[in-house]
Amino acid sequence: SGKFFVGGNWKCNGTKDSISKLVSDLNSAKLEDDVDVVVAPPYIYIDQVKSSLTDRIEISAQNSWVGKGGAFTGEISAEQLIDIGCNWVILGHSERRHVIGEDDQFIGKKAAYALDQNLKVIACIGEKLDEREAGKTFDVCFQQMKAFSDYVTSWTNVVVAYEPVWAIGTGKVATPQQAQEVHAAVRGWLKENISPEVASTTRIIYGGSVNGSNCLELAKQEDIDGFLVGGASLKGPEFATIINSAT
Ligand code: 13P
Repeated sequence: SGKFFVGGNWKCNGTKDSISKLVSDLNSAKLEDDVDVVVAPPYIYIDQVKSSLTDRIEISAQNSWVGKGGAFTGEISAEQLIDIGCNWVILGHSERRHVIGEDDQFIGKKAAYALDQNLKVIACIGEKLDEREAGKTFDVCFQQMKAFSDYVTSWTNVVVAYEPVWAIGTGKVATPQQAQEVHAAVRGWLKENISPEVASTTRIIYGGSVNGSNCLELAKQEDIDGFLVGGASLKGPEFATIINSAT
């Protein structure tokens, strides 16, 4: 449902030189038309990427402050992102939840504030390994969805990213069946708790060890509307292969 969407989350990687090389690889890659493509560089390189990358690819931040700017040392506000021409933000990524300690409410508030400032939001959810093994995958994902929905009033500018924590950066990709099962459940949750229309129009993308070899089988699944890619998005040609896996 919706146009295929592929995001590249560069995380805390890159230098001026490596990013210049990645940008030139992306600029020369042949990308299918019918795919939304977004890359998320570290904040300090957004300007470099913005001024050198083809307009075909949009730019996202990896985080934003929960409210209006001011005395918040080290933070970047949604207004500042808009000011420099960055239209997207990734919120609720598992590294921010589990490494940095952001909770559901904080993330929900960030999403609402970012949307209010006209940023589009990639809203991440996903269970940890022990939660999956305890049979709590749906509970965890639904609770994270509920926290977003407690604050977000319009889903038009939201893409949901299902990223099982055990699959992130581990090389252990979810099987197409495992991913499809959760995507279908999340779509069902949207249908029951928001509306049938939001359920059918909201893109639900998969993230966690997606690469050039496993993307095609995943992309074929009915409820997988694209990908959020970490490691493989740092390699231009492989990221292009993933973008072009849209079916
Ligand atoms: P990897 O593709 O490196 O597993 O990272 C996924 C991710 O966290 C994207 O946000």
